[in-house]
Amino acid sequence: MAKKEAAPYKIYLTENELPTSWYNLRADMKTKPAPFLHPGTLKPLKFEEMQPIFCDELIKQELDNDTPYIPIPEPIMDFYKMYRPSPLVHAEFLEKLLDTPAKIYYKFEGNNTSGSHKLNSAIAQAYYAKQQGLKGVTTETGAGQWGTALSMACSYFDLDCKVFMVKVSYEQKPFRREVMRTYGANVTPSPSMETEVGRRINAEHPGTTGSLGCAISEAVEVAVGTPGYRYVLGSVLNQVLLHQSVIGLETKAACDKYGIEPDIIIGCAGGGSNLGGLIAPFMGEKLRGEKDYRFIAVEPASCPSFTRGKYVYDFADTGKVCPMAKMYTLGHDFIPSANHAGGLRYHGMSPVLSELYDEGLMEARSYEQTAVFDAAVKFARVEGILPAPESAHAIKGAIDEAIRCRETGEERTIIFGLTGTGYFDLVAYQKYNDGQMSDYIPTDEDLEKGFASIPNIGL
Ligand SMILES: *Cc1c(COP(=O)(O)O)cnc(C)c1O
Repeated sequence: MAKKEAAPYKIYLTENELPTSWYNLRADMKTKPAPFLHPGTLKPLKFEEMQPIFCDELIKQELDNDTPYIPIPEPIMDFYKMYRPSPLVHAEFLEKLLDTPAKIYYKFEGNNTSGSHKLNSAIAQAYYAKQQGLKGVTTETGAGQWGTALSMACSYFDLDCKVFMVKVSYEQKPFRREVMRTYGANVTPSPSMETEVGRRINAEHPGTTGSLGCAISEAVEVAVGTPGYRYVLGSVLNQVLLHQSVIGLETKAACDKYGIEPDIIIGCAGGGSNLGGLIAPFMGEKLRGEKDYRFIAVEPASCPSFTRGKYVYDFADTGKVCPMAKMYTLGHDFIPSANHAGGLRYHGMSPVLSELYDEGLMEARSYEQTAVFDAAVKFARVEGILPAPESAHAIKGAIDEAIRCRETGEERTIIFGLTGTGYFDLVAYQKYNDGQMSDYIPTDEDLEKGFASIPNIGL
């Protein structure tokens, strides 16, 4: 075999090296992720039962556990060309700082206006909604990245976009809100008085600043109750992991092109979409027995779904209007403590990743937020990019592995997902810079309160 060219600092694939299909990891899983259940009948949800909520083609993708490759439609490929490929960067300066024999690479998904990987799925979901002749979509957004991505995608395909934004973010992140409005989205703070569930939650918890789970309930209620609308979700679902596989496929192609052989692949985990997408083709190799890798999910110590959650059926949302999913969960009533500023605050986790973790095919760890911001600042100062706090969890994970390599002399190759930029997270950075960021690790009693909300259905 011809010796491969040495990799440049920043690896960009050419346009004709881009993946033309998404990869569906479920096709290679021996035990498939558990199906979503109808909360009334406790039976697996059927296509027809999902139709009032989701677009038809997306339901097909959600339920398809068998087709390994699904072609990316031409209009989505066209949109991807505007900001893909994303670079795989050799973090030489971080390696030097850490004085490590490890090789560190990161896949950077922050090179688009929305500032994160979420656009990869937003554009796909908007496309299928348009194909179906719908008028618009509804969704929730927490920190705002998903809402921003979806508003860009909807404006591209001329769809209405209604976003319920968690109230605390709506107030703390006015600039995210303005990006969404600039792309034509309608943004409502949640809980609102526009929906039944919002009015109920406001009555039960006066002055509440909201939660993702609650915003989801509101968005679903509006989608189901408005003709020509459907609901779309930016993480957790199988279809979202499918669309995000474009991250992993590009990473794999770049590695193959330059003979890079990763040993450890690390990603932050909120609902699991970027991690699921990044690891997909590599995990596929592991599942087929072709290669072995270590996969590490990194989550906040204040929202430890994998490391301290339970693998059971739970509601996907606080208002219990959504189907139930079997996943690692802290309980749908769990809300991270008020001082938590680092994102990744969803109570549950992707059913695909939950199953892989439960089978021991993936590891997970959690970090406190001050340690995560320490890592973010180290990284920003040597590699130049100001990372999103979410992404900084993966940075912290990679730094710790690289330090371990320094101590043991192992020359491992580490790849981590740098999911986005932190320009809209400056309130969190300000807290950190002012020395006012604190850590709070929930006690077992705190977690018990969330666990108590998990429905006991014996599954
Ligand atoms: C939403 C988001 C995440 C977490 O979501 P996943 O579905 O777990 O990937 C991570 N990083 C950034 C920048 C995000 O916007």
